[in-house]
Amino acid sequence: MNISILVFGSQKFLTTLPDQIRYATAFSVEVIANLDQAVSHITMTPPDIIVVQASLDGSMELCSWLKDQPKLSWIYCILLEDRSQQIIDRGKYGWEWELEMTSSALKQGADAYIWQLPEGKTDYTLAELTANQRLILAQLTVGLRKAKKYRDLIRTNDLLSAIALADSLTELNNRRALEWDLPRQIQKAREQSLPFSLIILDVDFFKKVNDTYGHLVGDRLLQLLCIRVRHNLRFQDTPFRYGGEEFVILLANTTGEEASIVARRLNRIVSEQPFAINNQHTINITISLGTASLQSDDDEQGISLLHRADQCLLEAKATGRNKVIGWDHLSHVQYLKAAASS
Ligand code: GH3
Ligand code: MG
Ligand code: MG
Repeated sequence: MNISILVFGSQKFLTTLPDQIRYATAFSVEVIANLDQAVSHITMTPPDIIVVQASLDGSMELCSWLKDQPKLSWIYCILLEDRSQQIIDRGKYGWEWELEMTSSALKQGADAYIWQLPEGKTDYTLAELTANQRLILAQLTVGLRKAKKYRDLIRTNDLLSAIALADSLTELNNRRALEWDLPRQIQKAREQSLPFSLIILDVDFFKKVNDTYGHLVGDRLLQLLCIRVRHNLRFQDTPFRYGGEEFVILLANTTGEEASIVARRLNRIVSEQPFAINNQHTINITISLGTASLQSDDDEQGISLLHRADQCLLEAKATGRNKVIGWDHLSHVQYLKAAASS
């Protein structure tokens, strides 16, 4: 694990830290002495541990800011007390003063508060020096332990999310992932005033494949179909297994016309070439597809948008299968029918 430490302090302060920090090769150490720079650095590349020089302007602000950030508050923040007045007062008022200062630092956001040995005095015993440095290193170990735990947790979390959102047969995103992604893509399209479309596709007469060759062959066919479809999409298109042998593809930044082009291409690449299941079987299939584009009165969840695409798919099935029907076309036909019958 590559541990990173940010030292918010001066170069001189850095020299007071244990050699294990300054010359470590097991982790990377950055030194920043400006609050704004530190904040932007932490936001862009969060370190595992922050060592803060208390006498530097903005030291307490940095600790407090860190603990107010929901996504950064796990970073271990060690505040090193080097303010000469505090150190003098500590000597004057004793351990009660020390406890008072410590609790105040922890309350403000530090995870650990360590007194530096007063500067100026040079005749420290080796025991004094090493005890202080050992305390800093011990706190560093606590920080490293915490960072490791946090990283393990994130890894497990990512794994669980991937399992929860993936379809195990086809390795496409599943319906739950679609329900999560669709509202977000709709919101993004609206915020950026970009077109947004989707395709629903369903394999024609798939039951016959299962009935003729068995379910395992059916499964393999679905896998091969997904690989072929995925290889023929553009980078902004996201396919999902909607259920059974039915798939939804979200098409970011795509007009209805462009969606029809994508859908027709998919229709062609499926029907043109049979799928080689194994040495014995190659199977020809076709797919039917419905497309629809986001309208201003569509709901945020994408239910009405999905419904229109589904109506198109039903129409494609009802009028012979192996084709693409777009909502523009379907609504026009429905309009003409209604006009003719009135
Ligand atoms: P249509 O053209 O009207 O869509 O006909 P169809 O036969 O494709 O549709 P139907 O809904 O009658 O049948 C779908 C079949 O897909 C039935 C179901 O057993 C099969 N199926 C769904 N999911 C899987 C799967 O994961 N593996 C396999 N092997 N079959 C599946
Ligand atoms: Mg089907
Ligand atoms: Mg179906």
